Amino acid sequence: KCRIGIVGLPNVGKSSLFNTFSTKQVPAENYPFCTIQPAQAIVAVPDKRWTHLCEVYAPRSRIQAVLEIWDIAGLVRGAHEGKGLGNEFLSNIQSVDAIYHVVRAFKDKMVEHVDGSVDPIRDLETISFELRAKDRQTIAGKFENMEKMAKRSNDRKIKKELVIIFYFKKGYCVDVYVKLIEVVGKIKEVLEAGKDVNYADWTSDEIEYIRGYNLFTAKPVVFLVNVSMSDWEKGSNKFIGVIQEWVDKHFPGSAVIPFSAVFEAKVCLYLLFLSLSFTNYISIWYCFFDFKKLLEMDESKREAYLKEHKTRSMLDKIITSGYKALHLIHFFTAGEDEVRCWTVRATTKAPQAAGTIHTDFEKGFICAETMSYKDFKKCGSESAAKANGKYIQNGKSYEVQDGDIMYFKFNK
Ligand code: GDP
Repeated sequence: KCRIGIVGLPNVGKSSLFNTFSTKQVPAENYPFCTIQPAQAIVAVPDKRWTHLCEVYAPRSRIQAVLEIWDIAGLVRGAHEGKGLGNEFLSNIQSVDAIYHVVRAFKDKMVEHVDGSVDPIRDLETISFELRAKDRQTIAGKFENMEKMAKRSNDRKIKKELVIIFYFKKGYCVDVYVKLIEVVGKIKEVLEAGKDVNYADWTSDEIEYIRGYNLFTAKPVVFLVNVSMSDWEKGSNKFIGVIQEWVDKHFPGSAVIPFSAVFEAKVCLYLLFLSLSFTNYISIWYCFFDFKKLLEMDESKREAYLKEHKTRSMLDKIITSGYKALHLIHFFTAGEDEVRCWTVRATTKAPQAAGTIHTDFEKGFICAETMSYKDFKKCGSESAAKANGKYIQNGKSYEVQDGDIMYFKFNK
């Protein structure tokens, strides 16, 4: 549940951003549970707490939390009717749990815009409309089927069949079926009113049903505004204000992050530069004038220059905002062998959190010995935390908190 897809019109900077993420991939050998596909980048979720734990325990193995980022083919107006890459795009988006919506706020005559001009609000509306239109299609199909079945179910024989299908085969009972019809009807109303499913009011029961439909507009969105390199360096862009207003109105609470794809690519090259041999410097030097400037600097000046650029990079913020939008948190296991982050959904209870490590931990769960990272840091060490009563035994109903350091006891 930590997949996020980059979505947007063609030529807005999606691939440039994705390529930058690709250069930041975690070393594959540390994450054997992830199989990396060409359109997928697995990046570490930056966390200073984890870095500090690694410094304290100096473990042999260090594993960070990761986020899967997927490059999704550009979407065009009419995609829900199969225009452009239509269905391919739509099936890709089905497999992600959240969306980075990249919107273009840079002008460049050399980079064509599908609609002929740079107009971020029009573009935001185009994409949102397509996602909603696809959901409307999905729900209309389901609603029709259900109504047909419900009508037919006045017939006693069919009613019996329905009970068999829903109760025995799918684990549903007739009450649930009736509730499903009600929820689908409500989703239809929301979409027809031009709203996204994610921004309507739902009870927790209804949310469970909605999850099962994998609707596009039920996925959380982080908006990424791609500005030109010069705007980025100036620190201003004329579209940011209106984009923020639009997002506040239509996607209240969603993050809006300005960035520059060109700047990010440059920072990546700088970092690559640091790891290259002298002959490679020369070839890069011919391609990118900036590197000449870098080569001419003395070492301390160069380091400061690179550091400044690195700190102005938005990649870390983009990653953590995606993780947050997915309602993900992590707890740590920490020792001399390994310091590791374990990702769970916020509100996960201790036994299920234990289950992410091993199913046996969940089955035989006895308790979770827990100290918060804050207490660990305040006390200075695990033993000091224990001595101060900060190492607490929690039972089955304990809700895991972001940054908990946990040790599970279980029956074998
Ligand atoms: P995608 O179609 O959304 O994946 O867009 P790409 O990442 O392939 O970018 C399309 C073109 O726009 C490429 O030539 C990029 O170099 C260029 N591009 C991307 N971001 C910027 C930017 O911020 N400023 C300028 N001038 N060009 C950009």
